Amino acid sequence: MYLVDTHTHLTFEPIWSQLGDVLERAGRHDVQRVLAPAYDLESWGRIRKLLSSSGVYGAFGVHPWKADEALNPDDLQHAMGLPHAVAIGEIGLDFKVASPSPEVQTALFRMQLELAISLNKPVMLHCRGAFMEMIDILKSYAGKVRGVVHAFSRGPDLAETFVRLGLHIGFGGAITRSNATRARAAATTVPWERIVLETDSPSIGVEGVEPEKTEPMHIALIAAVLAQLRRTDVAHVADVTTRNAELLFGLPPGSAAVESPKY
Ligand SMILES: [Zn+2]
Repeated sequence: MYLVDTHTHLTFEPIWSQLGDVLERAGRHDVQRVLAPAYDLESWGRIRKLLSSSGVYGAFGVHPWKADEALNPDDLQHAMGLPHAVAIGEIGLDFKVASPSPEVQTALFRMQLELAISLNKPVMLHCRGAFMEMIDILKSYAGKVRGVVHAFSRGPDLAETFVRLGLHIGFGGAITRSNATRARAAATTVPWERIVLETDSPSIGVEGVEPEKTEPMHIALIAAVLAQLRRTDVAHVADVTTRNAELLFGLPPGSAAVESPKY
C-alpha cells in the first residue's frame, strides 16, 4: 500500500528543521511521495532544494496572503521548468483576511491560473471566504484549469460544483473530526476519481494531533477515516488516491520511498 500526501508545507517550521526525520517517518507509514507547495517568494529557495529528494515534488506560486509580493511571471515559468516541479501553488483567494485586498489577490490569482493553463500544469487552490468569486473565475477559463481545491472542509454541493468544473478535491484533517459533518458528507459523495489526500501539515490538525505536530505520515490516519466513511478498506483508498495523484500531477508511477534531500 502506498500513499501520497498532495499538500504538505515542508518549508514551514517545525518540519523544515527536522526534514530528514519527517520524511523517514513518512516512508515508514507507506507515504511514497509528497508534494510541497510554495507559500511566498522566499519559500521558493527551500522548494528548489527539496526537488532533489527522492519522492518529493514541489509547486511554485504565491499564496493569496502574500499577494502583494511582486511575482514576475517569467520567474514562475522558469521555476516550473525544474525537474519535479509539478504544480502551481499554493494560489487562490482568501477574502477573510483584510489585506491584501480582493483586487490585488484576484489579479495575482488570474495571472497564475493563466500561466498554469499555458504550461498545462495543475494548480493547488486555497479558498476561504471567496467561493463564489473563485467559481466565477474558474468558469471564465471554461474548464481549462485542472488541480485541487485543497483542505476542503465544505459540503457536498460546493464539492460537486468544483468537480463539475474539472477540479479534484483535497481531503485532509477536517474529515477526521467527528463534528465536521459537512466535510464528511462531501467525502462520501465526491466521485472516487476526483479525490486526493493531504495533511496540509503543519497547518491543520488531525483528530488527536495538534496542527504543529502534524506531518506527512499522518496521511495514513486520513486514509483510514476516508475508508470508514466510504465503507471500504484502506488499501482501496490508497490505491485510488495514489493513482489520482499520479495522473493529476504527472508523477511517475511506483518510484521509491521518500528520502531526505541531498544538498
Ligand atoms: Zn497549504
